[in-house]
Amino acid sequence: MTTPTTGHCIFCDIIHGAAEVSMCYEDSTALAFMDIQPVNPGHTLVVPRQHYESFLDLPRDLGMHLFDVAMQLGPVIRRVSGMEGMNLIVSSGATAGQDVYHFHIHLIPRCAGDGFDVPLPFAGSTMPDRTVLDAVAARIIASLRDPARRTPKHTPALV
Ligand code: 5GP
Ligand code: ZN
Repeated sequence: MTTPTTGHCIFCDIIHGAAEVSMCYEDSTALAFMDIQPVNPGHTLVVPRQHYESFLDLPRDLGMHLFDVAMQLGPVIRRVSGMEGMNLIVSSGATAGQDVYHFHIHLIPRCAGDGFDVPLPFAGSTMPDRTVLDAVAARIIASLRDPARRTPKHTPALV
């Protein structure tokens, strides 16, 4: 878990029909609805029916299905909104800016001058030496190969 579980979940309310929503997609495990405070018209949230707090809690096959739903909806939202650009955003955990702790993928259609920004590359970052990037990549590769080393307690944090 990346964040503490809270008792009440507005997305579960929506899924159980206890809150107003503008739904645009439903299947047996996933649904999508319009964000209540859209960046632009067409801003959509893809969510699992079952409550999982974050990206790190989500079963892999469900995550793949949710991304597939996002892939289906993306071109449709682009056509309907008339906007060429689109951001797909997943915020996982409080430090990443997650506000609603029921996993969701934002599909945000974008147009020039809309005032929204995802400021990457990060202005506060200095480009590390290649050896530093290689060392981090090597640690990820080693951890993928050796499941015993996947648990954080076996490896010191990168920062
Ligand atoms: P997060 O920061 O967790 O990635 O984004 C949560 C999103 O959920 C926000 O964009 C917010 O506008 C949206 N949201 C919060 N409450 C509701 C709600 O009751 N209904 C809908 N449709 N969207 C909501
Ligand atoms: Zn929930």
